[in-house]
Amino acid sequence: MTGHTTTPFQQPLKTAALDWRTDDGDIEAPFSTHYDDVYFSRQNGLAETHYVFLEQNDLPRRFADWSDERAFVIGETGFGTGLNMLCAWACFDSHAPSGARLHLVSTEKHPLTRDALARAWRAWPSLAARADALIAQWPEAVAGVHRLTLDHRVTLDLHFGDAADTLSRLDGRVDAWFLDGFAPAKNPDMWQPALFAALAGASRPSATFATFTCAGMVRRGLAAVGFAWRKVPGFGRKREMLRGEWQAGTPADTSGMPPTETPPNPRAATPWFQPPPPRPSERIAVIGAGIAGTSVAEALARRGSAVTLIDRDGIACGASGNPQAALYVKLAVETNLQSRFYLAALLHAHRWLARLDPARRWWADCGLLQLAGSDSDETRQQRFLHHHALPPSVVQACAADAASRAAGIPVSRAALHYPTAGWVDPVALCRHLAATPGIEVVCEELRALRETESGWQLQLGQRSQAFDQVVFATGHASRDWLDGLPLQPIRGQVSTLASDTPLSQVLCGGGYVMPARDGRLVFGATFAPHEATTDMRDADHRTNLDELAALAPSLVPATIDPTQLGGRASVRAASPDKAPYAGPLPNIDAWRQDYAALAKDARTRFTQPGRHYPGLWVSTAHGSRGMVSAPLCAELIASRIHDEPLPLARELVDHLHPGRRVIADLMRGR
Ligand code: SAM
Repeated sequence: MTGHTTTPFQQPLKTAALDWRTDDGDIEAPFSTHYDDVYFSRQNGLAETHYVFLEQNDLPRRFADWSDERAFVIGETGFGTGLNMLCAWACFDSHAPSGARLHLVSTEKHPLTRDALARAWRAWPSLAARADALIAQWPEAVAGVHRLTLDHRVTLDLHFGDAADTLSRLDGRVDAWFLDGFAPAKNPDMWQPALFAALAGASRPSATFATFTCAGMVRRGLAAVGFAWRKVPGFGRKREMLRGEWQAGTPADTSGMPPTETPPNPRAATPWFQPPPPRPSERIAVIGAGIAGTSVAEALARRGSAVTLIDRDGIACGASGNPQAALYVKLAVETNLQSRFYLAALLHAHRWLARLDPARRWWADCGLLQLAGSDSDETRQQRFLHHHALPPSVVQACAADAASRAAGIPVSRAALHYPTAGWVDPVALCRHLAATPGIEVVCEELRALRETESGWQLQLGQRSQAFDQVVFATGHASRDWLDGLPLQPIRGQVSTLASDTPLSQVLCGGGYVMPARDGRLVFGATFAPHEATTDMRDADHRTNLDELAALAPSLVPATIDPTQLGGRASVRAASPDKAPYAGPLPNIDAWRQDYAALAKDARTRFTQPGRHYPGLWVSTAHGSRGMVSAPLCAELIASRIHDEPLPLARELVDHLHPGRRVIADLMRGR
């Protein structure tokens, strides 16, 4: 159902191979030694971008006229230095009305390094402030989608990987295309039928395109998938270029071309994951003010929704109320859907926190050491590195002596070192998010929920309030509202201990311990499935102390009475497959009925899209990894509600779909 595609080896991304040229004056411009071509012309790059991509897509006028609630979406092949995209952002700011939003989607097979990017942008001082926003958030060279929030109304999704491949997995549609990516003669691999098919599949009706090239293979390829094109004068000395629009269902107008086909529905084989149609999103209730709820609330408020954040107990009083939370996930050895999601979520959480709190007042990217617990664990870590092929700036092997130096205290095992992982004060984070303009916090209990003609009527304590849509982010308490979605409570207790240890990294293995804050160490945590209690237990403190001793014996004082320990117990929620639930709430009975034939034959084909409760959403089952998973799930839900491209490849979006268990159970004949 979710297509458990396991890519045994994640291909490492090669960063751009560059030469720096100063052909015209003393300012350098990057030149690709791989493609033997320039990224832009130093003399007239800005004017060329403006003419070729902005004007030929008619963007100044379209931006000025943009009155849709959703963001205007630009797609691009070949991000390079980002000159086109940042020019589009500047053009948007000059022309679009104040409430409009812009969403940029660009692909890049060979990303520049951050240093190279900064060096390239010295050529364009007029765009320096925008370039700074880009450079500050520039992702590591890791395949997948990286979401950058350039400002309060402009989002950039960088899809690192091949353009045809990433665009065919894009969950979202584009209004205007910039077809860049070096000339077909220099880069024939990119301008292939698979790319044109992906462009058509990701186009809104009447999407436009512009490209500097007039090559026959491009004209034919575009026409074959339904783009009407015409030649117009090129920029400067270039005689001509192409512009046009996608015309679904019309026959191609170029002689000898096959008739146009409507792009196949990418979810034809999994229609249950077809997203529900967009609905009004002005007033949204978010139930639950932990990390899942506050991050969704912030993501929605940033997009202009009026959000009511509802929690009976106030902000961060459940599983998100611990004094420190590790910014960490233990990734599977293989690259599978689960490890791909958690890796994307980890990278996203870091970028997101750095934007929310650049001064690191309530979080730290101090680094984290995942200690191998045994020789076989060490072998497992080696296999992990081999399979994932990640840059050392994300994760690297570390021998015990190097790990001890990094940690500031002796550790006896080799480790995986995540240099930018760390810890977060989740209460401070949730409070910060809840204070976002556009969010009203209401400390009431949700008593009842009733569907109305236009949305949902919520009974909150003694009062009743109407909303367009509702997001449930109530951890394991979500069970009351989620139509029988399988959720398991897991009790966890953390312990705290006065300490003056010089520990400077988060350590984890069986348990975890954070660098001391205000003279106290936080360590833990116990893991008791099916228990929903929050009393503090000495036995749990003892378990935590044993785990702490296993991580680093020097952290445990010679004599200690467990009753002197502080701590906190809370209940997390987990799904049976340990992935979060993030997406629309399925009508489970309807799914069981509609797809009952799967129980007899798992290959049965259906056309009925999944039936959902209109306007109900869920972000839960984050287990003990919510600090990492919740922020990206929040972006996913907010993007879907606001009808914009999603921040994950389609198969990962489906991997998180709250209905996936229903289908898996049916297929297993349950
Ligand atoms: N649009 C860029 C700008 O504004 O700076 C310039 C693009 S540069 C001329 C072409 C870019 O396309 C390079 O960064 C190159 O790595 C990228 N590229 C080439 N083949 C690609 C492919 N198959 N998929 C994605 N990107 C590709």
